[in-house]
Amino acid sequence: MNVLVTGGAGYIGSHAVRALIEAGHTPIVLDSLEHGHAASVGEAELILGNVLDHELVARACRQFSIEAVMHFAAYIEVGESMVDPIKYYANNTMSVLSLLKTMQENGVGKFIFSSTAATYGQSEKVPIAEDAPLAPINVYGHSKLIVEQVCSWLARQTEFGFIALRYFNAGGAHPDGTIGEDHNPESHLIPLVFQTALGKRKSISIFGDDYDTPDGTCVRDYIHVWDLAKAHVKAMEHLANGGASGAFNLGAGNGHSVREIIECARRASGAAIPAEIKPRRAGDPAVLVADPGRAFETFNWRPEISDLKSIVGSAWQWHSTHPDGYADAEL
Ligand code: UDP
Repeated sequence: MNVLVTGGAGYIGSHAVRALIEAGHTPIVLDSLEHGHAASVGEAELILGNVLDHELVARACRQFSIEAVMHFAAYIEVGESMVDPIKYYANNTMSVLSLLKTMQENGVGKFIFSSTAATYGQSEKVPIAEDAPLAPINVYGHSKLIVEQVCSWLARQTEFGFIALRYFNAGGAHPDGTIGEDHNPESHLIPLVFQTALGKRKSISIFGDDYDTPDGTCVRDYIHVWDLAKAHVKAMEHLANGGASGAFNLGAGNGHSVREIIECARRASGAAIPAEIKPRRAGDPAVLVADPGRAFETFNWRPEISDLKSIVGSAWQWHSTHPDGYADAEL
């Protein structure tokens, strides 16, 4: 299939581009490069621009006979979303309405949407299944939930199919070591831990050690980005084969605390990685762990390399060979 991949030069998007190529599809990347990296796109076509540019998106749909859209382009920082909500509603919600309208006008009716476990808020039941209450406790999660709800209505009322993929915590890097995580500014735990291992930061901050969890630090479900990327292809093929629309968790089904991640990174890197306890970060639930059963059953997807050692090990392979991220990549 010919697939428009918005945000395809970002961390998860670039891995999805590789997964699409590997599965015999043709990704066309649309990325503003505000946060993305041209070097991560590899051999795929890259269109420089914004999802809100109606003419540009329409032209891309026609020129490349686009059959499906995978939408990754978004702002992703929970903390920032609490400080600047409009920024998140404008980029993560409003711009998607524009994209969906352009798709409809150009006869593109299949949509794979990057959603998030943050749509659940702090679920009372763990692991979290898709039918758990959707009650985000941060703006980021709400900005994504609105899009899911719009998509549900479109799927009911129009010729439109969608899969919303609720990511838990993506980590790691492509097994061949050529693409990986490089955000600027960096706010995610695993890359920050390795920046500390590399001596680029003095210490890693642990945001809260008084949560109601076994070691007091937040528990998350870490999923290898390559497993995550391959799920997108499975989801798209499911839609293309007439499968029903819906939302699916993408997680490994296991929880790991912030302290466990740091410990695992110490073992992978051999570095001391000093840690400092800091106050809780606004909008952080204590525990987020997926029940990924629906994706297993519906599109026969299974995480294959999402044990913590593989995730953290592949992240270390990337960061230790690319200490300055894509600034070190061969173009
Ligand atoms: N975290 C932390 N120190 C950091 C960055 C993150 O303790 O410097 C914690 C954060 O509070 C959360 C977990 O690590 O519990 C994962 O955070 P990340 O930002 O990587 O992903 P998110 O859960 O926000 O998607």
